[in-house]
Amino acid sequence: MQHIVIVGGGAGGLELATKLGNKLGKKKIAKITLVDKRTRHIWKPLLHEVASGSLDSDMDSVIYSAHGAKQGYHFQHGEFTDLNAKEKTLTLATIFDDQGEILVPERQLHYDTLVLAIGSVSNDFGTPGVSDHCYFLDSVPQAVRFHKALINSFVRINQQDNDRTLNIAIVGGGATGVELSAELHHVATLAERYGMSRMSSGKLKVHLLEAGKRILPALPEKIANAARQELQSLGVEVLENTKVKAATKQGFETSESTLIEADMMVWAAGVKVTDKIKEMGLFSVNRMQQIEVEPDLRAKGFEHIYVIGDSCGFEQKDGSWVPPRAQSAHQMASVAATNIINQIKGKALKSFQYSDHGSLVNLSRYSTVGSLMGNLSRNSMFIEGRVARFVYMSLYRMHQLAIHGWRKGLLLILAEKINHAVRPKLKLH
Ligand SMILES: Cc1cc2nc3c(=O)[nH]c(=O)nc-3n(C[C@H](O)[C@H](O)[C@H](O)COP(=O)(O)OP(=O)(O)OC[C@H]3O[C@@H](n4cnc5c(N)ncnc54)[C@H](O)[C@@H]3O)c2cc1C
Repeated sequence: MQHIVIVGGGAGGLELATKLGNKLGKKKIAKITLVDKRTRHIWKPLLHEVASGSLDSDMDSVIYSAHGAKQGYHFQHGEFTDLNAKEKTLTLATIFDDQGEILVPERQLHYDTLVLAIGSVSNDFGTPGVSDHCYFLDSVPQAVRFHKALINSFVRINQQDNDRTLNIAIVGGGATGVELSAELHHVATLAERYGMSRMSSGKLKVHLLEAGKRILPALPEKIANAARQELQSLGVEVLENTKVKAATKQGFETSESTLIEADMMVWAAGVKVTDKIKEMGLFSVNRMQQIEVEPDLRAKGFEHIYVIGDSCGFEQKDGSWVPPRAQSAHQMASVAATNIINQIKGKALKSFQYSDHGSLVNLSRYSTVGSLMGNLSRNSMFIEGRVARFVYMSLYRMHQLAIHGWRKGLLLILAEKINHAVRPKLKLH
């Protein structure tokens, strides 16, 4: 029986594992194995909500082993560290327990077809001090670490009977930085409501730094203007054209040698695929270190290796790269599933074509702004408010339905609504 190994159970990989598990795994046509360095899945666009405490990563995550048992795939916990494409084996690193003892030794896993869906990480472009002083929001542990520090900072401020503010500086005016800025304002309001009477949104000062000439550079100007206006009305200091030269214990130093003082610093700028892929020297990679693929999503030069999601470098006809977004990962998972099945059956493979359905930015409970792309024209339509919030949430709902099916997906959505009504709005401990 063919062995299909998918590395990375994120927005793209988990949808693909579910599809192949149901279509091939359950019918014993192929064995499907999903590998991830974590044991649970949280949809990455929700990470800023984990960081702010609006979302509880323990309650809102999917446990791979339990999910796989229902959806017809096997789960292997482990970090992919190396690949031998000739032998068709990949290496998974040793897993240690909390005491530092070996739990699972380093292993080799054989595959017939491999799918790399390992996502991306922030890019600090080698800026001095960033890795030592900044928080990142690339994974659940990083978001949880930020959340703990945030709550501790709220507690400290709450004990002081003075005007001291909590200064948070965020580098990167993309969706992550913009959404996190608004979310922080919201949770500071909640902290006050939940008993920290001296901690209010007035005691929080957020600086959002963007090196480019405007925030949300990848989105239409109208969305950026609406988001800027909303953030400013919340008291966020939006600093565009502000390049960071270094991060120090005191804050960010700009290229004009101004110090943006900060108690907590977040780096949410730039996207790249982990350096490990480039260092393997096996694949041709682009500027973001994404693995370049053929139109059918197979890595250039490899007949049995597919790449999907943020780690996939797909060059479009106009020379641009498919953007690293959840909607790209979702669409690629669909085409990769079809192509893997077709390849097993000896049928022709499909070419991937990215459809941009628009982009939305959620400014916590304050506003949602974005644009929808028309099906018939390439014109975008600006939307905001409740309609925009509904469309924003529907991308996540589509992901939930893709990984759980309609019945369980709808039940989970209902359970979330109930939890939302009965649970505290902020994770305090
Ligand atoms: C805060 C935030 C907000 C965002 N908001 C939006 C949004 O509103 N709309 C949108 O379209 N996109 C958004 N994005 C981008 C979106 O999250 C990504 O484009 C999408 O998750 C990419 O999917 P993926 O499957 O490629 O990778 P991911 O979803 O990142 O999944 C990668 C998986 O691979 C695993 N992994 C990584 N390396 C290894 C390894 N070596 N071995 C084993 N497992 C490994 C990880 O644990 C993870 O489970 C946002 C991103 C962030 C960080």
